[in-house]
Amino acid sequence: MDLTENFTLEELIETRHGENTPTAEHIENLKLLAAKVLQPLRNAVGQVVVSSGYRSERVNKIVGGSTTSQHCKGEAVDIICKNNRAAFIYIANNLPFDQLIWEYGNDKAPSWIHVSFKRTGNRKQILRKKHGKGYEPFKPPRI
Ligand SMILES: [Zn+2]
Repeated sequence: MDLTENFTLEELIETRHGENTPTAEHIENLKLLAAKVLQPLRNAVGQVVVSSGYRSERVNKIVGGSTTSQHCKGEAVDIICKNNRAAFIYIANNLPFDQLIWEYGNDKAPSWIHVSFKRTGNRKQILRKKHGKGYEPFKPPRI
């Protein structure tokens, strides 16, 4: 099922841990996330690989996700791009989002990017997650 020009629903569903079926509402959320964030990002930076998308509560538990994870609502994805730093900066400066997280990695680039989008009330919150620490407010690099 196509969500946008070149994102499919299948790309946004976690499949490594067995059955994981989104509801119609979750699919609507995934569609919005793809249309507002992922497709414009792919148009701008090229390769965008979704490493983890929708997770049922069961799957979320298996992967150790937070109990309030937006992955469970179809509102969040983890992505890996050719240049994670450039992609992060592009999202921060050009796209709507609820939360944008620089996940691990180092000061040069995150290991992956977590990005979420909500139908309403997007907070535009930018955070960084480091090993052994919680989420901290983060000012993205300029270039
Ligand atoms: Zn995530």
